[in-house]
Amino acid sequence: MASIFTKIINGEIPCYKVAESADFIAFLDINPNAKGHTLVVPKKEENKLFELDETSYLGLMTFARKVAIALEKVVPCERVGVSVIGLEVPHVHVHLIPLHSMKDIDFKHKVSLTSEEFSELANTISEVFLASES
Ligand code: 5GP
Repeated sequence: MASIFTKIINGEIPCYKVAESADFIAFLDINPNAKGHTLVVPKKEENKLFELDETSYLGLMTFARKVAIALEKVVPCERVGVSVIGLEVPHVHVHLIPLHSMKDIDFKHKVSLTSEEFSELANTISEVFLASES
């Protein structure tokens, strides 16, 4: 069965998209640890990060780096933290989390945003990302 992220990639489920390439997509985590918490996902469904072939792995990390740079320009923070877990969704994804303190990397610590806040944030990160690409 297709993962929830494959359904997002195929447009069957909505997301707050921040960046996309031929092989990768980045969208806001729907249950964020911190404002700007973003997931970077390969479009090809694979379960585990280290099962990716080297080209896909390096491509994912290169794309995640570009997204993180855009994210940090939009969401003031100490730095963007990175985490890879996958215990909930078995489709490779890199968590990019704007960090203010250690609690932001704690997945039991959550913040809530309105749909308007999600939309505005995604659009702003997307604009900065696209500007960095041109
Ligand atoms: P993990 O698999 O790394 O443990 O966690 C999966 C992450 O995906 C969680 O942070 C969760 O909030 C997020 N997530 C789960 N379902 C959805 C969804 O339908 N849309 C979005 N944007 N994020 C999701």
